[in-house]
Amino acid sequence: MNISLDSGEAQAVSLNAQAVYFTEEHRYSIEKSVSDCLWNEPMSLHTSIGVGGEAACIVFPSGIKELKDILRIAYSGNIPCYVVGKGTNLLVADKGYVGIIINLSKGFNKIAKQDSDDRIFLKAEAGVPMQRLMRYCIKHGLSGIEFLAGIPGSVGGGMAMNAGINEFEVMDYVTDITIVRGLDIKTIQRRDINTGYRTLLLDRVDIIIEAGLSLKKDDSAAIAGRMRKLIGKRRLTQPFKEKNCGCIFRNPKGYSAGKLIDEAGLKGKRMGNAQISEKHANFIINLGGATCSDIKGIIECVIKRVEESKGIHLHPEAVLLGMEGPWVL
Ligand SMILES: Cc1cc2nc3c(=O)[nH]c(=O)nc-3n(C[C@H](O)[C@H](O)[C@H](O)COP(=O)(O)OP(=O)(O)OC[C@H]3O[C@@H](n4cnc5c(N)ncnc54)[C@H](O)[C@@H]3O)c2cc1C
Repeated sequence: MNISLDSGEAQAVSLNAQAVYFTEEHRYSIEKSVSDCLWNEPMSLHTSIGVGGEAACIVFPSGIKELKDILRIAYSGNIPCYVVGKGTNLLVADKGYVGIIINLSKGFNKIAKQDSDDRIFLKAEAGVPMQRLMRYCIKHGLSGIEFLAGIPGSVGGGMAMNAGINEFEVMDYVTDITIVRGLDIKTIQRRDINTGYRTLLLDRVDIIIEAGLSLKKDDSAAIAGRMRKLIGKRRLTQPFKEKNCGCIFRNPKGYSAGKLIDEAGLKGKRMGNAQISEKHANFIINLGGATCSDIKGIIECVIKRVEESKGIHLHPEAVLLGMEGPWVL
């Protein structure tokens, strides 16, 4: 039997197919296996942009045993699964997701540290919010990943997306990553992990449960000062009051996607209740009640217009779950 843990480019899913995946027996086993699960849960409540139809099921495993139990049920029932973090780089189709969404925020949220002479080694579990990790670094005087200040999301999502700014990427500070592959737990050393721009080339079925980081000691006030500066800059240049999912498009080599969109005259472009931010053209904001189709419409329009005016094809950076289109990577 083969578990199908979907990638962001998941095939279109139809809620009508729900009965095929979830029998009463499946429901019973899932409810027995995890302490926390929700049925027919709107994904708009689990994405920072606030769109997305219902997930047939979302589970919050309390630890490795519950995670493995859920995976075992998915294996045996051939039920698709998809792991999410805080949904800050995620767009879920209006038709939702017919499968199990796995959220590690409840059971995988510990941080531990080990001191050596001049380095500190951290182990952060996947469900730890990135901002909590930042506060931990300030409290314990740990420097290196200040550039992540202001990037929302979880440690798991940050690793999976190789989060960063400019030339700084989180994977440059990672020593190893622990994953669940199939039902096995494996720790992979950094040198054995291929990374790319905003991506980590793990197997599409891997679930990251922990990351090891190597940081250096520094003065807490200096670290906090650097983070404050970066957050201040974000507030000036990015929409932070409206719902969004970060940068929609990857920066093509040598170009800024935001600048290309701006130059194509698309700042402020609106479809339904979604709009290209006036503040930063690589952000789409939800004005209230936007649907994923509104956002998809803007993505299609941007790709077409930038290609026509600049001859450059933009690729989405946000992960598109359950969406279709020639532009889906
Ligand atoms: C206002 C704003 C500003 C942002 N600025 C930046 C920025 O400057 N730089 C930047 O890099 N990003 C930025 N982002 C995007 C986003 O915050 C990051 O990509 C973040 O790391 C995603 O984490 P998440 O937990 O929300 O992941 P999600 O959005 O939930 O998931 C993203 C992807 O990661 C995968 N994933 C999540 N958890 C796991 C896991 N445990 N194991 C395996 N795969 C997993 C998901 O399957 C999905 O494919 C911004 C977002 C917003 C809303």
